[in-house]
Amino acid sequence: MADQKLQVIPLGGLGEFGMNCMALRYADDIIVIDCGMMFPEEELLGVDVVIPDFTYLEDHRGLVRALILTHGHEDHIGATPFLLAEMDVPVYGTEFTLALSGRRLEEHDLKSRARLNVVRPGEQLEIGPFRVEFIRVTHSIVSAVALAITTPLGVVIHTGDFKVDPTPTDNELFDLHTLAEYGKRGVLLLMSDSTNVDRSGYTESERAVRPRLEDILNRASERVIIACFSSSVHRLQQLIDLAQEFDRKVCLLGRSMTTVTEIAHSLGLLHIPDRILIRPQDLESTARGNSLVLISGTQGEPMSALSRLAVDNHKNLSIRPGDTVALSSRIIPGNEKAIYRMINHLSRRGADVIYGSMNPPVHVSGHASSEELKLILNLVRPRYFLPIHGEYRQLAKHASLAAHLRFAGLQETFVLDTGQTLEIDSAGARRGGKVPVGRVCIDSGTLDEVVEDLVIRDRRHLSEDGIVLPIVAINKLTGRSEGLPEIVSRGFISEGEGAEILHEARQVVARTLESSTAEERTDWGVMKEKIRADLRRYLTKQTSRRPLIMPVILEV
Ligand SMILES: [Zn+2]
Ligand SMILES: [Zn+2]
Repeated sequence: MADQKLQVIPLGGLGEFGMNCMALRYADDIIVIDCGMMFPEEELLGVDVVIPDFTYLEDHRGLVRALILTHGHEDHIGATPFLLAEMDVPVYGTEFTLALSGRRLEEHDLKSRARLNVVRPGEQLEIGPFRVEFIRVTHSIVSAVALAITTPLGVVIHTGDFKVDPTPTDNELFDLHTLAEYGKRGVLLLMSDSTNVDRSGYTESERAVRPRLEDILNRASERVIIACFSSSVHRLQQLIDLAQEFDRKVCLLGRSMTTVTEIAHSLGLLHIPDRILIRPQDLESTARGNSLVLISGTQGEPMSALSRLAVDNHKNLSIRPGDTVALSSRIIPGNEKAIYRMINHLSRRGADVIYGSMNPPVHVSGHASSEELKLILNLVRPRYFLPIHGEYRQLAKHASLAAHLRFAGLQETFVLDTGQTLEIDSAGARRGGKVPVGRVCIDSGTLDEVVEDLVIRDRRHLSEDGIVLPIVAINKLTGRSEGLPEIVSRGFISEGEGAEILHEARQVVARTLESSTAEERTDWGVMKEKIRADLRRYLTKQTSRRPLIMPVILEV
């Protein structure tokens, strides 16, 4: 029966943070687990998202049978539209996960033809030679699952992201029993989340944030604004419950905050008491001491609701001295500068800003610390172990943690980078060949652009449409720009025919600078985003092309 080999093909998320994507292949059948994106790092300013290179899947498109999603975080579902645009494969996930990815598919006009199949935890699917069972786990998002995949060579367990929360706020417990049963019967390969392997002990339960949130509301006499990930339904539920206890009306600000709460509410995952919600336009007329604002934009994303509020550029709300702003979220590595800049602005406006680590915590992680990782290893007792979801140092640490456990049967642990495959056959497991992988930058423009304009800005497009660098010199003392902005372009338009367009483009950038407030002008993240949006609108209109635009701001 098992005369073929099983190939484990990491396409993203190993040796890098984000864009998790793993393919499993047995003979002529491939299933893909998760299809995530990565947020661009500082040096990639000018692109919106980064997704895995799908060359391997495109080269074997006839063999790809399914995309299975473990949960609805962007680093697991964010690239789904880009894969489905390339190939029409059925997608499986829990109801909430599919609702979140459906929202992304809608933005790309792919929703109507996507084949989304809801699977409940505890249910099994048959896909070619694979039988896949969804196992409920606890994580910072609701409806997250691990996968037990029975193959002709044995069982493969993929944990997805998880922590072991013994007291989840929705009382939906981690199904450790099922995991342990698989362990008892014998597991060929365990792939487990390495994100928090550096942390000793146990990750706190989601409930641990309640005392701090309660304390914040207890002490505040003015407006309270709390930022968290819109997908943290557990967190939102606790906040809405507290708002009711403290007799505050709740206002949701930010696009993702509004849509995700709507989805969670419609699926019965978020309980919202009658008449507790107020509209953003009613905020200023509601007593400040009677309102709680839940807002998106914890990572200092330049156009998010919280960033706009920080520079006093939100149409429904202004920060006033005495207001409390809490960031109930973690600082994703790479976003420190943007977040601290936003906090500086908020503090300058007189807000009491609560962020960072404290006891009791204002935020708890959704990922397992080392003791929980050991628990999972001990329960599953795999023959082979493959740490996933993390930079190389975290994968290596997770491997050494497994090496120190004494459960019987672990034959080998593999620390692999994305692209390095693992092969298992009846003789055992070994490193296999490499497959092409990489990061593909997508420049989808600003959110207010029409959907048809979304263009996959992969390398081919980049070479076709070129790159445009608007260069702005800002005087350190006056905060004003020095002379007319410069524009450098490569591969976009020839100097001759483009002279007029490029000259006018300089005026466009100059107008963007002039029309910005003094406060916006000190925030380079905001300025770059504004310049990019205005310039793109102009260039697309003039040339019907979409070059990659990367604003450069120099302080002189
Ligand atoms: Zn993740
Ligand atoms: Zn996650």
